[in-house]
Amino acid sequence: MSPMQNAINIDERYLNSLPFPALIMDNNGNVMIWGKSAEQQFGFATSDIIGHATSPITESLLRQLSQETFEQIAQNENFTYIENIQVYTQTNDEITTSLLAKSFTENDECLILIMFVLPQFMIKPTSTNNALEDLKQSLESTFMTVTLDQDGFIVDCNQNFLKISQWTPKRVIGKTFWQLFPDNNESEKITNTIWRNLNHGLTWQGEIEKISKSGHPYWVLLTAIPTFNFETNEQQFMLLEKDITKAKTIQHQLEKIAYIDTETGLMNAHRLEKIITKMIEEQRHFSFVYLSIDKFYTLKELQDHPSERNLIIEFTNRMKMYFQDSTMARINENDFVVITPLSEWFIQGFLSYLQQHPIYNGSVAVPISISGGITRFPEDQSTFSQLMKASIATISTVREAGGDNIVSLSKAIHKALNRKALIEKRLLQALDQKNLKVLYQPQVDVASGKITAVEALVRWEDEVIGVVSPDELIPVAEETGLINNIGSFMLEKACEQALIWKKAGFDLKVSINSSVREFRDKNMAKSVLDTLTKTGCPANLLQIEITEKFALEAEAATFITQQMRKLENEGIVFVLDDFGIGYGSFRYMQILPIDTLKIDQSFTSSLLKSEKTQKLMLGMVQLGKSMELTVVAEGVETAEQAELLKSFGCDTIQGYHISKPVTPEEIEILLLK
Ligand code: C2E
Ligand code: CA
Ligand code: CA
Repeated sequence: MSPMQNAINIDERYLNSLPFPALIMDNNGNVMIWGKSAEQQFGFATSDIIGHATSPITESLLRQLSQETFEQIAQNENFTYIENIQVYTQTNDEITTSLLAKSFTENDECLILIMFVLPQFMIKPTSTNNALEDLKQSLESTFMTVTLDQDGFIVDCNQNFLKISQWTPKRVIGKTFWQLFPDNNESEKITNTIWRNLNHGLTWQGEIEKISKSGHPYWVLLTAIPTFNFETNEQQFMLLEKDITKAKTIQHQLEKIAYIDTETGLMNAHRLEKIITKMIEEQRHFSFVYLSIDKFYTLKELQDHPSERNLIIEFTNRMKMYFQDSTMARINENDFVVITPLSEWFIQGFLSYLQQHPIYNGSVAVPISISGGITRFPEDQSTFSQLMKASIATISTVREAGGDNIVSLSKAIHKALNRKALIEKRLLQALDQKNLKVLYQPQVDVASGKITAVEALVRWEDEVIGVVSPDELIPVAEETGLINNIGSFMLEKACEQALIWKKAGFDLKVSINSSVREFRDKNMAKSVLDTLTKTGCPANLLQIEITEKFALEAEAATFITQQMRKLENEGIVFVLDDFGIGYGSFRYMQILPIDTLKIDQSFTSSLLKSEKTQKLMLGMVQLGKSMELTVVAEGVETAEQAELLKSFGCDTIQGYHISKPVTPEEIEILLLK
């Protein structure tokens, strides 16, 4: 949860969360932020409004609002209500609206928030100057609303609220604000913050847990607004709530399944990755110890399921005893990772510890041996995926030498991993000579059975170093900044190809992969649009895939979000790729203009083998659907997987089952089939 405290600060998300179209302007009438809903309502894009000395909207506002009204707004601690203002939409339609305006100070500058309380939000137009009444009526249908008096007593609420909270009108009146929330420390902390904000004339917004009359928990997206009752002349507060319990519940379940290995209670690889990434950020030194149980599969064949389980649990117990407080994870059926500051000889001592404390199956000691690799941060490797790759390389050399050993990352492996420098050098040349190629992998729409989109994937075969797979190429390119060049190369190729297909009569969208690094460039949106113009490719044929890591960064950086919005407004669709492996929050799906979820292929690959994965994938499809997103499954290799995913409600399927990534000509053959 990250509530936006002191929420009236310059943040587009705040505007977008308000119940009415809204803008923020400075003292001179320049619009600083133009909300998304204002954009939809009036038809002016952000670029039509921001940065223009006058805009059709501000021009009409400034004409109608007198100097006195502005002074009144500046002096009023609460919202000022103004009726009967005419504004014009982009298509020049006149709208008569009421305004709720409030001034606030940001970085010593006086700014004004203006909300347009449009006629369609008013169920029954009133002639009174009662802002609270108008607000209440207009919000009745979409939100749960609760009105509090200045001491925090509930004085009113709507039907939606009563339905979910299970209170009866008689009983709830006179209860306090605090009684609506669970009785625990965390809740107390947040409710006190909300209360403090409201009393300082500030709005608060965030996700928060509430309880019904019978003590049943539910989740809401809460917007708390200070208002004013003109009849009693008293301060009041309004709570606007949207029920998000369904999405929250699914998220919690998913997090549970996604983070913990249920058999051992250890964390799983996803969680480990998060922890390691954090440790790396904090520059904490550690050894990454990868332990793999040798010949696990033959051992397994000798045993039935309960004793196989017993073996894993007993092994985990020994790891816990020996490594004590170190961080431990189970990342695969027979693979474990221990993160420890302990020395190499101590780690290697685990082998003799295992011999001294054998694992019994009945009365027989099970002869297990393990292969292990020690990779150090920061000396040996510097990212989670490098640590993993280096470990796997080490383990396989240990195995080849007979196993039952734990060794440190060898010099030879070091050398192999240092291909990076070479790749970088050759890549520069390849980009220069346009030696990269693009293959396209089709996606099939489940409902129609037709290919409706393709994903563009980069391919590179260098004459000196041979084939370099994207998994190796992209991280190096990201590190060196060459990803921008790859990105614009791919974009141009994809647009050209999309247009060729369009001219040939195929209705095919092309998806490109994008790295957040490309969007850190403030000109990204512009250069994408320029490429569309240059190639003549219509914007609605282009999709851009971003990852969760990208989404997290984008969420925090307004200029990235703005660029995404700009592209979305032109008709470009954003796809959240590799969904499910980075679980932070689903919040950014509400904030970013994401249209499609693509569930990571690691889930598809274990789908038929694991009931847990089935639950997880079904949950993810449902989560996507509950947010009205299109859901794609990738890495689909078999008809069985496709069938199951279809029954889960997946919209689109991509994978070898349909086709590997192929040339444009081969795509056309598939289309004509
Ligand atoms: P991705 O975006 O998740 O792309 C899907 C990857 O899965 C592709 O690997 C594809 O060949 C592979 N794949 C597709 N269907 C199946 C299947 O049924 N089974 C299996 N096992 N694999 C399947 P590829 O082409 O090696 O690309 C790997 C990753 O490299 C991509 O993952 C993407 O993250 C990145 N990448 C590729 N091209 C580009 C690019 O032009 N720009 C950027 N920024 N990243 C790219
Ligand atoms: Ca992708
Ligand atoms: Ca993917």
